[in-house]
Amino acid sequence: MTRWDHVRLFTPWSMNVSERMARHLRSAGKEPPKDPDYCPDGSELVSELLQPLAELPELAGNLALGTHVLGVAREGLLKHQEIGTARRSESPFRIVLRRPGGEVATATATMVLDCTGTYGMPNAAGDGGVPAPGEHELGGQIVRELPNLRRDWDHWASQEILLLGEGKSAQTVARDLAELVPGSPGTHVVWAVRRSDPTWGEISNDPLPLRQALADSAKWIAAGNVPGLTVQSGLTVDSFQVSNGRIRVRLHGTAQREITVDHVFSLTGYGPDTALYRELQVHECYATAAPMGLSAQLLGDAAGNCLDQPNYGVDVLRLPEPDFFLLGAKSYGRNSQFLMRIGYQQVSDVACAYEPASP
Ligand SMILES: Cc1cc2nc3c(=O)[nH]c(=O)nc-3n(C[C@H](O)[C@H](O)[C@H](O)COP(=O)(O)OP(=O)(O)OC[C@H]3O[C@@H](n4cnc5c(N)ncnc54)[C@H](O)[C@@H]3O)c2cc1C
Repeated sequence: MTRWDHVRLFTPWSMNVSERMARHLRSAGKEPPKDPDYCPDGSELVSELLQPLAELPELAGNLALGTHVLGVAREGLLKHQEIGTARRSESPFRIVLRRPGGEVATATATMVLDCTGTYGMPNAAGDGGVPAPGEHELGGQIVRELPNLRRDWDHWASQEILLLGEGKSAQTVARDLAELVPGSPGTHVVWAVRRSDPTWGEISNDPLPLRQALADSAKWIAAGNVPGLTVQSGLTVDSFQVSNGRIRVRLHGTAQREITVDHVFSLTGYGPDTALYRELQVHECYATAAPMGLSAQLLGDAAGNCLDQPNYGVDVLRLPEPDFFLLGAKSYGRNSQFLMRIGYQQVSDVACAYEPASP
């Protein structure tokens, strides 16, 4: 979250703080954030909620910060071995991790909740979601996380920029560009979106005003109201090529176009890192790469509004691999309708299911 701390959330504190969080904060003498209707930005969410939670005595000693999990498997077993047997459920998980100093070590666990999100795995910019020719070679020259444009405007001003993507992240960047570009001579932005008739994910009678405002601003920009910022719909990236330190991009779709820019912002969505649990028995949805049970429910409900999604309970979250759960944003895979409060409920459901029965 610190990687997008300048972005204002469209959910208010009332949706971002669970009852359990508020209870634990109060019992430690800390007040949870007050104004239920206020939508914090990422940095406020961290400083006013996540950091105080991380400092709770129940949690503080149990965090291994700066530790990266490289893979999770079952000790002594491969993916295809021991399907549904006691041997499988009784073998501990073997976790390979990289500690802050770079040392790679192993650990064991009897239960794993994989809540590693999706923000670290951006989708490719190329047509069909595969990296376009030249995309790998550009590496870090393609910006794939939401840049803090206001803070770093000196770096981007007077340049030519290609913005890719149609979802909330691309819309957020476009809204910032719409404020900054007109007052910045020499800055030109082409915003290319795949669909020829983008809907901007608008929800009729959206109960979240900031989300509605974002869709409204995308429509306003697309209508050509911002000098220096042009929206080109129905276009997708065919290839990238570096040319004299600049980036030549071929686009195709409703038309063929070639443009040369200084920077590419590719905000084409994010997906789960499925390689982490490659050796575990995880039944993934072919459409979303989310766990099959939950994904089937979500696709069946086809909920357009993330506020309408019911709580499906722990059984829908279970996987063929015993005691391994995919929770949080990762549990939705490519489906971008996830909200934090859904994750809080998932964690609660799993924790309650594993609570020892009272005598
Ligand atoms: C710009 C933006 C705005 C959003 N606005 C809202 C909003 O208004 N309301 C809302 O409810 N939701 C919003 N979301 C969705 C939001 O990201 C999620 O609801 C929430 O952050 C998901 O929490 P998470 O813990 O599942 O995943 P994340 O917050 O993505 O956390 C995953 C964590 O796992 C870590 N990790 C990843 N891989 C590994 C590994 N291999 N080993 C160890 N750690 C790892 C990551 O570093 C990260 O800290 C927004 C998302 C974005 C990107």
